[in-house]
Amino acid sequence: MPVSTAPGHPAPTAPPRHPGEDAVLRQDPQIAEVIRGERDRRSRTLQLIAAENFASPAVLAALGSPLADKYAEGYPGARHHGGCEFADAAERIARERATALFGAAHANVQPHSGSSAVLAAYAALLRPGDTVLAMGLPFGGHLTHGSPANFSGRWFDFVGYGVDPDTGLIDYAQVRALARERRPKAIVCGSISYPRHPDYAAFREIADEAGAHLIVDAAHPMGLIAGGAAPSPVPYADVVCATTHKVLRGPRGGMILCGAGLAERIDRAVFPFSQGGAQMNVIAAKAVAFGEAATPAFTAYAHQVVANARVLAGTLEAEGFEVLTGGTDTHLITADPAPLGVDGHTARGRLAAAGLVLDTCALPYGDARGIRLGTAALTTQGMGEQEMARIAALFAVAIREDRAEREKGSGAARVRAEVAELAGRFPPYQG
Ligand SMILES: *Cc1c(COP(=O)(O)O)cnc(C)c1O
Repeated sequence: MPVSTAPGHPAPTAPPRHPGEDAVLRQDPQIAEVIRGERDRRSRTLQLIAAENFASPAVLAALGSPLADKYAEGYPGARHHGGCEFADAAERIARERATALFGAAHANVQPHSGSSAVLAAYAALLRPGDTVLAMGLPFGGHLTHGSPANFSGRWFDFVGYGVDPDTGLIDYAQVRALARERRPKAIVCGSISYPRHPDYAAFREIADEAGAHLIVDAAHPMGLIAGGAAPSPVPYADVVCATTHKVLRGPRGGMILCGAGLAERIDRAVFPFSQGGAQMNVIAAKAVAFGEAATPAFTAYAHQVVANARVLAGTLEAEGFEVLTGGTDTHLITADPAPLGVDGHTARGRLAAAGLVLDTCALPYGDARGIRLGTAALTTQGMGEQEMARIAALFAVAIREDRAEREKGSGAARVRAEVAELAGRFPPYQG
């Protein structure tokens, strides 16, 4: 089957515009003001939240298209509603592009989010009460990997693996020992903050030995995988869950890849088990994003994301931050700002005041929080290694500013001016 790609895909640096903003402006000034405020905020500050990106104008246009109004419960050719011929076409194209892009036998593009994709994967493979082995939350596991506040922790018996305290790397000997001892029904490989490539072959071997399914939750690296900048879990996993909005730069949503043998179970676990009607505008936007991700421009983008993250991590380390695992293979950096005299919460606050927007995150040992950041959005804006080194230096200024400076707000103001200059030189939106 030929790989279908979206015509007229934008270059990785093409600034998106919000389609339909003018219509909101005419009808609803109150919400128009909110949208404009968010657009200005994103234009004036730097987005280092590891899970965020700027989707292309074509992706945003598909989201605002008439497909938004279409009800299409079921799957192409087998819908519970009439008038689905174009909805079917959108979903078929999205599935074909996803399977071609990732080399998978089957794709389900309906999950409303990454969490919905994981829920469906569990529903397809597990029964309530089953034991599941996943990365523990303090080490970077996602809420859906056994948090007591989430369905996963409530309905399954989760066992957590961790990282080696010296290297910060996944302790495969521990994963193997836990799998032997607890005989889980499934092993989950994936994280919200682990900056290195997991050893998918090792996970496969451990899962086979324990008779467990291997679920890879590739929500973060899926865009890097699409661009050939990270190894693919597809040959190793029974099921791969992902988001489409992180490095992959599509609309907010989820997807699932699996082999032909599990296709029917996965499809039924999404609809009708855990979802109703699919969001056809989002599925069309996913198709657009898969088309963009199949281009050489996206391959260059994905590699630049990683090159940028390596420079950012290296410069942060030189500025005194403790970079976990000593660097990164991906778009993600997890760092402890303790050597600069602050914890993650204080660091996030001072950085936000200076226009540098990122998250705090759990650190593997101890109660203090660290910071988590990524380079997907900055790279979409067209920034390169030079800008990364400059931004890392601004981090240190914003966090280190002494008390007198802080009271006057002069350190943050200085950084804010430099941030505004960078954001102005690499504008994320047109017009
Ligand atoms: C982001 C993420 C998710 C959830 O995605 P949502 O779309 O926010 O539900 C799940 N798992 C991992 C590992 C993630 O990083």
